[in-house]
Amino acid sequence: MASLCAPRFRSVCLGPSTGAQQLRASQSLLAVLVYALFAVVQHAEVVAGLVDFQASLWLTGFFMTGALGFYAVIRSGLNERLGSDPSLTLPQMVLGVLSTVGSYLITGPARGAVMSLMVLILVFGMFALRPRQARWLSVFACALLALAMVWKGATDPLQYPPAVEAVHLLFAIIIVAAVGTLTARMAAIRARMRGQKADLEHALEQIRLLATRDELTGLSNRRHMNELMAIEKARQRRTGQPMSVALLDIDFFKRINDTYGHGGGDLVLKTFAQLTRDGLRSTDVMGRWGGEEFLLMLPDTSAADAAQCVERMRSQLARLSADAIAPGLRVTFSAGVAEVGGLDELETAIEHADQAMYRAKVKGRNCTVVAGTLVA
Ligand code: GH3
Ligand code: MG
Ligand code: MG
Repeated sequence: MASLCAPRFRSVCLGPSTGAQQLRASQSLLAVLVYALFAVVQHAEVVAGLVDFQASLWLTGFFMTGALGFYAVIRSGLNERLGSDPSLTLPQMVLGVLSTVGSYLITGPARGAVMSLMVLILVFGMFALRPRQARWLSVFACALLALAMVWKGATDPLQYPPAVEAVHLLFAIIIVAAVGTLTARMAAIRARMRGQKADLEHALEQIRLLATRDELTGLSNRRHMNELMAIEKARQRRTGQPMSVALLDIDFFKRINDTYGHGGGDLVLKTFAQLTRDGLRSTDVMGRWGGEEFLLMLPDTSAADAAQCVERMRSQLARLSADAIAPGLRVTFSAGVAEVGGLDELETAIEHADQAMYRAKVKGRNCTVVAGTLVA
């Protein structure tokens, strides 16, 4: 089967796809470098006669294979398909704990310094692990260290005197417990900050909706329509395509309010908005211009085509039985359409559409008039 990625883009396709994935890859590369540094220090210990060469080789092979393996998995993007922790934080830390304990086992007299590496690993966990994972890792690290100490104390008491091992273990437990408590606190702070961020995003979304939407109909409000039309006008200046606006005003709406109450009137506005919006192209925008007046913006559309679109809305509205709102209710509207030429100001075109709409009212309502045309 042919590859989905052309050769030129293959490295891009295989590489990290998102910012988060790139961050993970650079963090795991950093881990590889830290392990390499660790290997250099261990080799210096071999040269100093503190560590056995064979043992050092085995341990270096173990942690370098592990670190490079994690880096390869993250670079290839495989980690994103592996489970709920794409950073592979916990497995990477387990490798760190195993390597540290391994180093403790082979370092002999200088092993006290190795304990500080354990602290370093747990401190990394503070920023990434959930409290439960951090607790698990702490217990795992202490248990493994205790096992190593007991074993060495029993098999090599000259180099690993049991009393010294007991003191090491005690200190290890105190340090791990302290770091574990800090980790839990950090996790709580992180969770609180995540919650605050979500609240803030929600509030921002609400503000954006309030600033751009008409509460009753859900259509764009007048302010938002002005913004959208200005953007479209700027685009039109570049493309030179025609653009039209139409003003739609519900006929005798006052009478609807008087007969069916304000609630009935509101329902008519909502139904009208829903119906007209459903019949539009995705690029057309309908907004509530005021009271029972609606403004329709039709990009790339001539006045004649805009008038046809408005007439389609009229027949849709005529087919709609408003009996659900109130028995016998019939809703109609009058409309004025104006084309916005390349050099025309938007305000002028809207004024022309308003005048055309007024002529439609005078003509007897329930009809459309295009600005600049003669009305019979
Ligand atoms: P015409 O056919 O000439 O347009 O007559 P009309 O009665 O529709 O026009 P007029 O401008 O006299 O009345 C508009 C009415 O719309 C007056 C106002 O109370 C009502 N209105 C404005 N906003 C709302 C609203 O949000 N809800 C309701 N129910 N009524 C509203
Ligand atoms: Mg009206
Ligand atoms: Mg009106």
